[in-house]
Amino acid sequence: MDKKLFDWLIQDLENLTDEIGDKNSRRLNISQLIRVINRLNSFSEDCEECMKNLLEISTLIKELMDQHGQLEKQELKEHHSKVNNSISHLQKKHKLVAEGTYLSIYLSIGMSLGLVFGMLIYDNLSMGLSLGMGIGVAIGAGLDANAKKKGLTI
Ligand SMILES: [Zn+2]
Repeated sequence: MDKKLFDWLIQDLENLTDEIGDKNSRRLNISQLIRVINRLNSFSEDCEECMKNLLEISTLIKELMDQHGQLEKQELKEHHSKVNNSISHLQKKHKLVAEGTYLSIYLSIGMSLGLVFGMLIYDNLSMGLSLGMGIGVAIGAGLDANAKKKGLTI
């Protein structure tokens, strides 16, 4: 993508964040949007799909700016689903992981295993559960940190 256009998108989003405040920015997940744009931009020279997603997101941002970040419930849903499309492309095609992905995966694995072991071995559900959660969090957070270190986090 044209470097100027890209800078302008980021600039727009930063201005919007200032304008609408932290709470609304989190609702729109603008910091994630900026990371997604960065990633799409870095692949867009070699990947048509990334280019396409990037253009789609730039339209999305234009709408956001026009409405000063005030999206109706339905619009918000569409907004997130478009951003999620880009994220799933980045995950599948470019092997990136969303922040906290491993944590949520291993937390739920840990919880289910913890329940089973708690029941079978300790005869103590809550102990098994907290043990499982502890292990799940430790593994998941470790893998997330590792992905981040390798620059694979969106
Ligand atoms: Zn791509």
